[in-house]
Amino acid sequence: MAARVIDGKAVAARVRERVAGQVPEAAGRLGRAPGLATVLVGEDPASQVYVRNKRKACEEAGMASIHRELADDASQEDLVATVDELNAAEDVDGILVQLPLPGGIGQDAVVDRIDVSKDVDGLTAASAGLLAQGRPGLVPCTPAGVMELLAEAGRSPEGAEAVIVGRSILVGRPLSALLLNADATVTVCHSRTADLAETCRRADILVAAVGRPRFVEGSWVKPGATVIDVGINRTEDGLVGDVDFGSASEVAGAITPVPGGVGPMTIAMLLSNTLAAARARAG
Ligand code: NAP
Repeated sequence: MAARVIDGKAVAARVRERVAGQVPEAAGRLGRAPGLATVLVGEDPASQVYVRNKRKACEEAGMASIHRELADDASQEDLVATVDELNAAEDVDGILVQLPLPGGIGQDAVVDRIDVSKDVDGLTAASAGLLAQGRPGLVPCTPAGVMELLAEAGRSPEGAEAVIVGRSILVGRPLSALLLNADATVTVCHSRTADLAETCRRADILVAAVGRPRFVEGSWVKPGATVIDVGINRTEDGLVGDVDFGSASEVAGAITPVPGGVGPMTIAMLLSNTLAAARARAG
């Protein structure tokens, strides 16, 4: 295997340690611990686990976890009222509404209700607009984690050809803006891209965020490229990414594994965003 494996678990642990180290100073200025509010609607088991992990990480970093739970049959109005309450709450610096929401609730309307200064998931249209314009703001956690991993791999985006497979609001689109803001030349591919393999072969930085197990093959990878695999797919062989790790790692210069690559970065960046939001509020 030629490629260096980028250890996302270790990078995430360093980010979390850095955040925990900076919490006391922010708490001193605020007169209280920075606070992250999580909102969970319904009883989806996966969402329950995600929220539990986020709350635990928040407390481990010395921040306060505030939690609201709404029943499966909660209305959009109920949820908007909860977001409004948290927007107004003095002890809340960040608000995270766990997605997806049960059917019938307008996700965009709920997310866009979050005060942009508390939008630690970076998913409101307002945050996306700031990012698209290259202005300061809170950035979605998974793409922010990808940027940290690139820095860790020593792969500066400046002047690099970056190709992202996937154009979701959660990953592909915000990542394209982050890479562009970091002076990469960015191509975003999707299900209608004409020659995907050929486009990927141009990439110095290749990011897969597709949601298809082992979709990106080693023959699509430029020798020496940095390959970041955002995918998380549950298969009979366990968790696998969107990149065929076996063949891609023969060609790439550096590559993230699944699990243990991008996955652990998401919560780490959520904590980092919450601290940033708290510091901004402290002035
Ligand atoms: P998504 O919303 O389903 O978007 C998938 C994207 O892939 C779409 O843009 C789609 O194109 C594109 N695509 C699908 N089939 C394709 C094909 N045959 N050729 C080219 N492009 C294709 O998924 P997502 O939310 O971005 O998530 C992507 C993956 O990342 C999933 O495995 C998810 O579990 C994982 N993920 C991981 C984390 C983490 O913390 N590590 C966080 C979020 C997501 P169209 O737009 O044309 O349909």
